[in-house]
Amino acid sequence: MSDTDQLFIDSHVHLDHIFEENPGRIEWLKTRSFLVVSWAYSQHIKSIQELEKYLQHQAETIRKLNSKGLRCHFLTGVHPRNIPPDLQVLDVEPLLAPYLDDPLCLGIGEIGLETGRRSEKLIFAEQLALGSKYKAKGMRIGVHTPRENKAEITLQIISILNSYSGLEDITVIDHCTPQTIAWVLKKHYWAGITLSPSKSGFNDLKKIIDRYPEYQDRIMCNTDSGSDFYEDLNTFINDSSFPENVRNRFARENAAAFFNLTVKK
Ligand SMILES: [Zn+2]
Repeated sequence: MSDTDQLFIDSHVHLDHIFEENPGRIEWLKTRSFLVVSWAYSQHIKSIQELEKYLQHQAETIRKLNSKGLRCHFLTGVHPRNIPPDLQVLDVEPLLAPYLDDPLCLGIGEIGLETGRRSEKLIFAEQLALGSKYKAKGMRIGVHTPRENKAEITLQIISILNSYSGLEDITVIDHCTPQTIAWVLKKHYWAGITLSPSKSGFNDLKKIIDRYPEYQDRIMCNTDSGSDFYEDLNTFINDSSFPENVRNRFARENAAAFFNLTVKK
């Protein structure tokens, strides 16, 4: 598939989990012309060696699926739920740097806070410092916000991000809701909305579209599909109750602009 084929973009999935647990979905994504961005997250990390092995496995899976004809990229990173007890701040750069030179890697993610404990904040801050350092190479940053205490933790995340100047244009803060998205957009970050039964629904999306028309060029939708696969983004693309220009922006153009990907309109 060439760069000029028409594609939709699911801007946050876990393709390694999809491939292992729902391999039939790879063909499903291909036939519906999806390009996907796979964010790093493992279900079992107990040591730095396991984390190292996981990140390598993730990069290899993305390479393999590209060779099978699915256009896909990845973000490498330490998810706040993947911080093993033996991981030190100084380990982060040597762990991630090899992938930041990989042509299929678009940046660092998924990173952020889950509960806001000290080790999460230290590892998050270190990955933001790394993001600043690799900004000139075109690297992007994908940030997770949790389901529990979403409002409080989102504000903590934004406050940590604000201490690194110049990350606004290269950072997407994901899993935003009608309650949290204004904080993200008003600070000039990009906002992600996850469409799935466990995150945001079409009513949430309609509220956001009505309330923030001035930010429609900074919002991208995704499914966060992994061991559970969601068709919600594909349903949205085909839902004529949403204006066509909004569907194009939220499911293709904005993610293409943010990640600097070429897709035909
Ligand atoms: Zn995710």
